[in-house]
Amino acid sequence: MSARAGIVVTGTEVLTGRVSDRNGPWLAEQLRQTGVDVGFTVVVGDRPQDLVEALDFLAGARVDLVVTSGGLGPTADDLTAAVVGEWQGRPSATDERLEARITAIVERLSARRGWTFDPEAMAAGTAKQALVPHGAEVLEPTGTAPGLVVPGQDGDGHPPVVVLPGPPSELQGMWPAALASPLVTAALADRAELRQSTVRLWGTPEVAIAATLRRLGDGLEGLEVTTCLRGGELEVVTRYGSDLADRYDRFVEAVVQEHGAAVFSTDGSTVDDLVARALADRGLTIATAESCTAGLLAGRLTERAGSSAWVRGGAVVYSNEAKHHLVGVPTELIERVGAVSEEVAVALAEGARRELGADLGVGITGIAGPGGGSPEKPVGLVHLCVAGPDGRVQAAPVIPGDRSNVRARSVTVALHLVRELLDGDAPA
Ligand code: ATP
Ligand code: MG
Repeated sequence: MSARAGIVVTGTEVLTGRVSDRNGPWLAEQLRQTGVDVGFTVVVGDRPQDLVEALDFLAGARVDLVVTSGGLGPTADDLTAAVVGEWQGRPSATDERLEARITAIVERLSARRGWTFDPEAMAAGTAKQALVPHGAEVLEPTGTAPGLVVPGQDGDGHPPVVVLPGPPSELQGMWPAALASPLVTAALADRAELRQSTVRLWGTPEVAIAATLRRLGDGLEGLEVTTCLRGGELEVVTRYGSDLADRYDRFVEAVVQEHGAAVFSTDGSTVDDLVARALADRGLTIATAESCTAGLLAGRLTERAGSSAWVRGGAVVYSNEAKHHLVGVPTELIERVGAVSEEVAVALAEGARRELGADLGVGITGIAGPGGGSPEKPVGLVHLCVAGPDGRVQAAPVIPGDRSNVRARSVTVALHLVRELLDGDAPA
């Protein structure tokens, strides 16, 4: 049996959704990579009793280790260290050498940033952060707050608790020290390599893959398969022990056999990866003319470093005038067939190619909503075209969901069209 861990993310800002949690998922992935299974992530606000309940719950679930994030700052609402210490039955005392180190850090930071503090308030904050539960290991600060590893007591059934700061860069910086802690190493003695692999499909409904999974039945034993529809792509993520690698490979073969053309990635690559790689490998360039997405595709194409080698640029052509002036769509054409039309999508794609001197041009024009729809052209109708030296591919889906979903999904559809065009004329 592989060791199991639980995560407690603290912070009212995370609980209420003002800040979206980056620590829980990050810690879960780090733990998985070291062969530890994560059973639970619990999010609690800055209320001591709720943190205690979360710890009780995880102890009851018999996890081998708990990792907390947040609540280590100098202010009164930062309670995690004290609450965890008390829960483990370990009274806290000031670690004077640690206090001196924190003071030095705070003074250095203040000098560099030109902050001035009431010395008394600063000393109180530092003194609070230097309180260490009896028998806990200290993890050196990567910001100003030290982390802790607080063990349970003999026979109380409590796992050790790793207490980490909330700011993601501080937490991530401290993680290697946490993993190296003798208390943590001992708690996670039983590890088994836990692999996680992803297959991605495009243009297949979730029920189709569900049928494949049902048919394979016992052939999947020991594979933890989850399917998830994301932005129109179907993601099949499987977790399995390394001893089941052959079974996983057979599963992927079966998926490829049944869903052939819809499977676009079996090695974890995203459509963004595939498009970038295909353009880079073949020395081709791309340009965009976007109406309803107004630059979102250009943004996504340029997310990765090095994209200047293949992205020429893009035009945001939201108005009819911009469509005409920036990429030469004939005004007469727009008047005749309407801005949201196959013809205009083609003219945008060809115009982007021509005006920006690229090998491939992408045109997107659609009705993002919520207004502006009609029976013939409903909200969510998007015309897309990718034009290349040897031809074009086009699509005109009606994308469900709200405005932001229509815009985001349009970009994904466009990337798949680029991929299809590049696949189609790949040299044999
Ligand atoms: P500080 O000394 O900065 O107060 P802390 O350990 O007390 O550190 P928190 O007060 O819980 O941490 O969080 C500080 C800030 O870090 C939050 O306002 C938030 O911006 C960010 N943060 C905390 N937890 C998370 C999280 N789970 N995901 C993303 N950001 C977070
Ligand atoms: Mg804080």
